[in-house]
Amino acid sequence: KLYNEVQDLKGNIRVYCRVRPLLSGDLSRRTTVEFIGENGDVMISNPKRQGKDACRTFKFNKVFSTSASQEQVFLDTQPLIRSVLDGYNVCIFAYGQTGSGKTYTMSGPSNATEDLWGVNYRALNDLFYISQSRRNVCKYDIGVQMIRNSCHQNGLNVPNAIMLAVTSTVDVLELMKSGEKNRAIGATALNERSSRSHSVLTIHVQGKDLVTGTILRGCLHLIDLAGSERVNKSEATGDRLKEAQHINKSLSALGDVISALSQKNGHVPYRNSKLTQLLQDSLGGQAKTLMFVHINPDADSFGETMSTLKFAERVA
Ligand code: ADP
Ligand code: MG
Repeated sequence: KLYNEVQDLKGNIRVYCRVRPLLSGDLSRRTTVEFIGENGDVMISNPKRQGKDACRTFKFNKVFSTSASQEQVFLDTQPLIRSVLDGYNVCIFAYGQTGSGKTYTMSGPSNATEDLWGVNYRALNDLFYISQSRRNVCKYDIGVQMIRNSCHQNGLNVPNAIMLAVTSTVDVLELMKSGEKNRAIGATALNERSSRSHSVLTIHVQGKDLVTGTILRGCLHLIDLAGSERVNKSEATGDRLKEAQHINKSLSALGDVISALSQKNGHVPYRNSKLTQLLQDSLGGQAKTLMFVHINPDADSFGETMSTLKFAERVA
């Protein structure tokens, strides 16, 4: 087990918080984030209040400030990704309100150049690189699969979930370009821009030891979750309200599962949502979970930021 040692010290569930920079479109242009500590502390303050009550500190395994690069974020994720080559199942989630940076972390900005690539391209690149470097001792097969959990239809969109064998990151980039023509992994697959559904990119890895013939299978799920924002009932009606309620329900079901796992509860309520059913084999047991929680630092988002951090605190 080459890539597992460091990670095991930290347990099977970890939570990283990432604070994106203020953007020109943000309403107040004032930040709620008061302090980020070396050891995973983040302090936020309510702009409408003063004094001690206005502040709260949360603690996670790590907090990335607005200046953290895509590469830095990846470096702290890499050991987890590499453990897939040792036969582990890994889930990496991006959680947060719409506009907080989930897709930025997982995929990068649209039309990203290599330095801005998100976790998904870097993960594929890394897996291909290592499988190549080990080719004299082990034969790896790598496949990718894309599933969208459309909250609109109250279920999983599985018809296009064909697994495709890939041999290089270029392959995957080509597949994306071919877009609609390719139903297994379309243009949206690695660059999900919709905030109304969960998107799950799964990378399957099978390694065969060339000497002993032993086969190891692991998979990496990269999940760009639907936006976690509460929807105001007076603003949303009909389908849109139903969709929002469904998203909130499935996110809290996910929170319940991870929280039960982190507290080592006997009963883990996998069956309460399609997403947790789909990921059941990769949540709990020997599997490893990483949740990126994303913060939009704008003071105007204080309420959402507080509920995002509370959600994350419960699963940490
Ligand atoms: P989400 O997927 O949560 O809805 P996005 O990833 O689309 O949010 O990010 C919203 C906007 O913020 C985008 O314009 C994105 O490029 C920008 N952004 C997000 N995170 C960062 C970051 N760490 N650094 C710079 N810009 C960011
Ligand atoms: Mg997004």
